[in-house]
Amino acid sequence: MKLTAEALQQALLNTADQIEQQKDELTDLDREIGDGDHGINMSRGFQALKKELQGKDPFEDLGELSKLVGMTLIKTVGGASGPLFGTVFVKFASKWNGKEAVEGDQLYDGFREAVEGVAARGKSQTGQKTMLDVWEPFTEALMGAEPLETVIENALADTKELKATKGRASYFGDATKGVQDPGALSSSILLRQIAEVLNG
Ligand code: ADP
Ligand code: MG
Ligand code: MG
Repeated sequence: MKLTAEALQQALLNTADQIEQQKDELTDLDREIGDGDHGINMSRGFQALKKELQGKDPFEDLGELSKLVGMTLIKTVGGASGPLFGTVFVKFASKWNGKEAVEGDQLYDGFREAVEGVAARGKSQTGQKTMLDVWEPFTEALMGAEPLETVIENALADTKELKATKGRASYFGDATKGVQDPGALSSSILLRQIAEVLNG
């Protein structure tokens, strides 16, 4: 599995389109166990990102690309999720600066740094029914043999049954059991697109 700057750029453009398709679904979930803005937040951020990326030549540096993505998402997504998605890419940039492609340990190290960055920034850990419950198993799966798509589906299914103990959803207590976490779903949309370019 190898991630090039060009492939990540394509995965992000694909994510922007897929977010538009699932925007209402994301917002409806956030209406059930949040404040009903997650689809709107993600759509705003990824449409801004799409504009930013489309106006640029294809990137040759994963660090440069990741930094631009992180800054754009932090500026435009808003909510609790904006700084967290932004952190993912700022951390990628810190590990992948100057690299046109990463694989093996370098690929894993970027994701590991991202997951730890989100946990630190969100003062959160796995098991609290947040985006981390998808990012963490995905990251570990980069070193395993199981297909990434399967790992994502299983992580989403497991997260759905958890009780939220972090973020806005935690105020809904037991009512969150059986409802998908919106940030876990949006993370799965992004990670599926990354998995696709990693496999291709
Ligand atoms: P807000 O809750 O401010 O309206 P969003 O609706 O955009 O922000 O994002 C909510 C999502 O952010 C949740 O579904 C969850 O996955 C994620 N999230 C919120 N707080 C945290 C946290 N402390 N750590 C990790 N993820 C979090
Ligand atoms: Mg919200
Ligand atoms: Mg909000």
